[in-house]
Amino acid sequence: MIDFLAELNEPQHQAVTHENGPLMIIAGAGSGKTRVLTYRIAHLMGSGVDAFNILSLTFTNKAAEEMRHRIEKIIGSEAKNLWMGTFHSVFAKILRFEGFRLGYTSNFTIYDTDDSKSLLKTIVKEFNLDDKTYKPNFILNRISGAKNNLISWQMYNENPVFQAEDISAQMPEIGRIYKTYAQRCFSANAMDFDDLLFNTNVLFRDYLDVLNKYQHKFKHVMVDEFQDTNISQYLITRKLSAVHQNICVVGDDAQSIYAFRGANIQNILNFKKDYPDLKVVKLEQNYRSTKNIVNAANSLIAKNKAQLEKKTFSDNEEGDRIEVIKAHSDNEEGKIIANTIFESKHQGLRNQDFAILYRTNAQSRAFEEALRKLNIKYRIIGGLSFYQRKEIKDLLGYLRYTVNQQDEEAFKRIINLPKRGIGDSTVAKIVVMASENQKSVWEIICNIKQYLEGRAMNSIETFTNLIKSYIIMEEEGKDAHTIAMNIAKTTGILHELYIDKTVEGVARHENVQELLNSIKQFVDNPENEDKTLGSFLQTVSLLTNADQEEDGDPDKVTMMTIHGAKGLEFKHVFVVGLEENLFPSQMMLRSREDLEEERRLFYVAITRAEKKLTLSYAEQRYNWGKLNFCEKSRFIDEIDPAYLKFDDRGSSYTPKGFDFESFGRKERPVVTAPPTRSQAIANLKPVSQAKPAPVHVPTVDFVPSDTKNLKPGDKVEHQKFGFGEVKKLDNLGPTAKAVIHFDSEGEKTLLLSFAKLRIV
Ligand code: ATP
Ligand code: MG
Repeated sequence: MIDFLAELNEPQHQAVTHENGPLMIIAGAGSGKTRVLTYRIAHLMGSGVDAFNILSLTFTNKAAEEMRHRIEKIIGSEAKNLWMGTFHSVFAKILRFEGFRLGYTSNFTIYDTDDSKSLLKTIVKEFNLDDKTYKPNFILNRISGAKNNLISWQMYNENPVFQAEDISAQMPEIGRIYKTYAQRCFSANAMDFDDLLFNTNVLFRDYLDVLNKYQHKFKHVMVDEFQDTNISQYLITRKLSAVHQNICVVGDDAQSIYAFRGANIQNILNFKKDYPDLKVVKLEQNYRSTKNIVNAANSLIAKNKAQLEKKTFSDNEEGDRIEVIKAHSDNEEGKIIANTIFESKHQGLRNQDFAILYRTNAQSRAFEEALRKLNIKYRIIGGLSFYQRKEIKDLLGYLRYTVNQQDEEAFKRIINLPKRGIGDSTVAKIVVMASENQKSVWEIICNIKQYLEGRAMNSIETFTNLIKSYIIMEEEGKDAHTIAMNIAKTTGILHELYIDKTVEGVARHENVQELLNSIKQFVDNPENEDKTLGSFLQTVSLLTNADQEEDGDPDKVTMMTIHGAKGLEFKHVFVVGLEENLFPSQMMLRSREDLEEERRLFYVAITRAEKKLTLSYAEQRYNWGKLNFCEKSRFIDEIDPAYLKFDDRGSSYTPKGFDFESFGRKERPVVTAPPTRSQAIANLKPVSQAKPAPVHVPTVDFVPSDTKNLKPGDKVEHQKFGFGEVKKLDNLGPTAKAVIHFDSEGEKTLLLSFAKLRIV
């Protein structure tokens, strides 16, 4: 066995070897908290604790897998028997075994956010409420907040405080919607994400024998990223560890970034009260980042008033200062960063060493475009994941319905797919009929001719017969792949996509094939004992954004939101879009607490970097289809300038003669080891062909010009690009654009309301 204890500093060693009794480690980023948790598990197993008796709760399934993998390296294959995963996945598993006590079967469906919103929309419609006021997002947040604070629909409706809040938000019916939503989920044998925790709490509260069983089973409970647990999660861990008192939590209050979802920093403070025998270990040394990065992060977070006192230092090299880049526009921000990655790769860095972190998913576009042009491979984590694509959800809808015929959202999705001539109004009638007769939709459609008349009824019978044939396969014990393949073929889903030869159609067909492949992999994997459809669906519904599918090539630049980057580390990190209203987000600036949460988010972002950190912002950005001027984020100024280095490369950064458009094309000569940018450029374009870079000296002082009368053929002068001729005009008003051929720069498309241009 590897002597892993030798790889720890003194306080880390203490924490790892602390065997019994409650333990809390609250320490700064990169100080080895996750490493301590991993080694602690290995140490416990080495001291004879059975893997089956250890429960470890992590933030993503991927983090759990990584941890398991590391422990396996130290201890061997016994690590496979550890209970590890996210709160949602671990307790979904327990609810599969125990949920029958609450009235669910073991095949219950897990509703994702789309299912929940679709159900809420249906309810709002049935109640004849205005769907412009009653927005599903808002209602779902409200219900989610209630559940995470363990407030049932009954409690919600009894408490006048909630009603008063709903009335002031102009939505007095939320209580009634919550009740119907909960009842409909229950009768659909479905739980939403929050129910997984809520119902676990109900289970442990009302069935002491069950609680007792798991309390005895889990001799050790560990929680990573403890600062982001909510009350519902906290209570579960407290109850589970009540017998053995072996609970170990690690976290960093400065990285608490989920308050908007109910995470409660009080959990850290309460912990000391709940466990008077608590041992607290402090870790102060950051092993991840350079001195400059650690110092910069410390100087930033010091601006937050609400925080526990702790120190963090680094003994690593001083490293480069943090570079701050100002770009002219969002597109240019993309280009500069893609170029920087391209160049750094000549210094021996690989794609996988880079991460681009942003505040919102929508920001990824400019980076995608720029990276694609340079043939740099990237992966986007989050955003619309594979499993959220329509064609994937459609096939999954069939799989879900085969396993659980009470699943009303799956029913609504697939009943007319592929098209069978069953209209929305027929579907709505069936749903209403089911709730009026207190029957499930399935019971209604199995005897549809007793209830409704019309041509569509034959199609409905064909549909139920199809589903019945799948149910039989499931009952015969066929594996998930055999059934899924059969469904894809007999429903006509595969065929329909196959005959669609548009680019999108081909991609959709490939995606469905990919899903079928992944089911095959699931079935072939010897580690999965249960190869049923139900078991496959369970793993799929619990994938978090950070667990997304990949094509097996690890060497890619990672792009993701900062929320998704928690716990991860990369050699070179770019934190982009540092502009007021974007980061800090406008929507999060209602109070000092909100601002402090945004600042913690920025702290999380910068502490992901090991060697190099780059911050960037754009002076103009498209937002909701409108071009806006942007102001540099206050967060940049909050970092001690001693650690910063400003770079005003701006729009002049792309060097003259550097043909960006043709840069990424396949036919470009292979650049073997050009150490410098100029050599790389020379390789791409023979020097003799490259135009000397003319520096345009403007003839007048420019202001955005009055270009109302501009027409094709006009000769113009631009402040930076020099002289040219208008080729084409597009749009009117504020979005008016002109395509102009400049003598020295070639063709450019300019937005006239901003272009510093004059007619000559
Ligand atoms: P975060 O707050 O971001 O989740 P963390 O506190 O969990 O960070 P880890 O991810 O466990 O920190 O560790 C950060 C890095 O430092 C990792 O690469 C880890 O392997 C390394 N590291 C931790 N402790 C040591 C040590 N004693 N010696 C060498 N490297 C270490
Ligand atoms: Mg960690």
